[in-house]
Amino acid sequence: MRNSTVWGGLLGVEKSTVVEEVEFDDEAETVVVHVRPRRGARGRCGLCQRRCPGYDQGEGRRRWRGPDLGLYRMFLEADAPRVSCPEHGVVVASMPWARHDARHTSVFEDTVAWMATRTSKSTLEVLLRIAWRTVGAIVARVVAEGVAGRDPLQGLRRIGIDEISYKKGHRYITIVVDHDSGRLVWAAPGRDRKTLAGFFTALGETRCAAVTAVSADAAQWIADEVAAHCPNAVRCADPFHIVAWAGDALDVVRRDTWNAARKGGMSVHARDLKGARYALWKAPENLTDRQQAKLAWVAKVNHQLYRAYLLKEQLRQVFALKGEQGKVLLERWLGWARRCRIPAFVELARRIAKHREAIDATLEHRLSNGLVESTNTKIRLLTRIAFGFKSPDAMIALAMLKLGGYCPPLPGRQLA
Ligand SMILES: [Zn+2]
Repeated sequence: MRNSTVWGGLLGVEKSTVVEEVEFDDEAETVVVHVRPRRGARGRCGLCQRRCPGYDQGEGRRRWRGPDLGLYRMFLEADAPRVSCPEHGVVVASMPWARHDARHTSVFEDTVAWMATRTSKSTLEVLLRIAWRTVGAIVARVVAEGVAGRDPLQGLRRIGIDEISYKKGHRYITIVVDHDSGRLVWAAPGRDRKTLAGFFTALGETRCAAVTAVSADAAQWIADEVAAHCPNAVRCADPFHIVAWAGDALDVVRRDTWNAARKGGMSVHARDLKGARYALWKAPENLTDRQQAKLAWVAKVNHQLYRAYLLKEQLRQVFALKGEQGKVLLERWLGWARRCRIPAFVELARRIAKHREAIDATLEHRLSNGLVESTNTKIRLLTRIAFGFKSPDAMIALAMLKLGGYCPPLPGRQLA
């Protein structure tokens, strides 16, 4: 095996790269690998890859940082001439080992992107010796390349729209998910008709007309904007938000019960109730042994609170069943809730009856509760990881990378 072939494999550079020379600098603890594009890859536009006439030598030789070699930093070094593209004007020529405008090799950038969706900010910064703002720029570049290769807005039929708050409720982003692929397909800062109009403009008239179902929370601005753009779409209620209403109602009952116990001098009872919050709130299949015991205690000592819990759980069941069965169960649920004499749930029954048409549409279209809920939760987590990013765009790029299916495989492990 020739030395240059070994180096090519070691650095993860494509076959269209020629390794000329390898230089070790013990003092600076770096390895500099001198490279050039192979003949067929030379003189191409950095943006469109078209073969173009040369323009000048640009800024001469440039370096791109690649993955460390052992404990040393590694750089590729090459000439970076400019070409004259009929479409893009004077631009730096394409380099097979790096994305356009990047200061790192593609292998390094893919590693950053892969880690950004899986590990903490500080782990990534220390392990790869890279600043967080650079991570933001890399993620944006990787996602832009992915989106250029696979349009996330292609073939949308059943979508969900949601607004997510971050920075303690001071900022919002609006997101769109695809119920069929389970992917996040679009996100933008803001929560108003104008923000959402940006999505429908990007989708275009023909693709808007192909949308058959749109789920959203009960926000009127979303309903108005959907009606204005998607003539053939049935509006569905987002199961996630409806189930959350039931959770809120249950919490009202728990607090009232707790207050009554406290005022009635039943301080031990009140304290025990306080600890029951998570047992009541969580899905029963996720309860710990202790929480299960707590729930059993509530069932025994507080019949009203336990009935409220069962009402919440049965509503959740409606959306787990979906279809005709779900509709039958919802009908029974409404009857039960109306007569339950628990004010918060009588009110909830009224609210649900008001949105009945949209909820029935959800059950008919068999939209899942899980997708919007999990996307919502994951983006909330990402906003914390992305806290160091100055702009919401970098956070959105990170969300698209993780939830839009644009994360590249870890270099060198594609076959695993
Ligand atoms: Zn071009």
